Amino acid sequence: MLKVEHIGIAVKDLNKANELFGQLFNNAHYKIESVESEGVDTSFFKVGDTKIELLEASNEDSAIAKFIEKRGEGIHHIAYEVEDIHAEMKRLSEAGFTLINKEPKKGADNKLVCFLHPKSTNGVLIELCQEITGS
Ligand code: ZN
Repeated sequence: MLKVEHIGIAVKDLNKANELFGQLFNNAHYKIESVESEGVDTSFFKVGDTKIELLEASNEDSAIAKFIEKRGEGIHHIAYEVEDIHAEMKRLSEAGFTLINKEPKKGADNKLVCFLHPKSTNGVLIELCQEITGS
């Protein structure tokens, strides 16, 4: 894995959280993006070499809605950038980790993503992501 690409934080109110984290980082978010397939609205902040992704549920069935219901707002996942997501998925699956996605899917911020089930990673939801290059 190359680096921690971003940390995802589940929030109830994206607008309020954008203001709060903007103050915290002294730097406004640089994009807002809806990922309809995931039922989330996201915003991204650059913090040095890495990013913070805020996630608000856009519908009741969203994984973020369920997460907040169960555990409240807070850190939702840690995303690692990988060079070759297919190769990493194969490697981790063979090593016994539980992949939530069989195939990488299109996530926010122009990435192919795959999640590892927290059951196999000490309770931490892990996202693998690979930048989509070209058009
Ligand atoms: Zn993420």
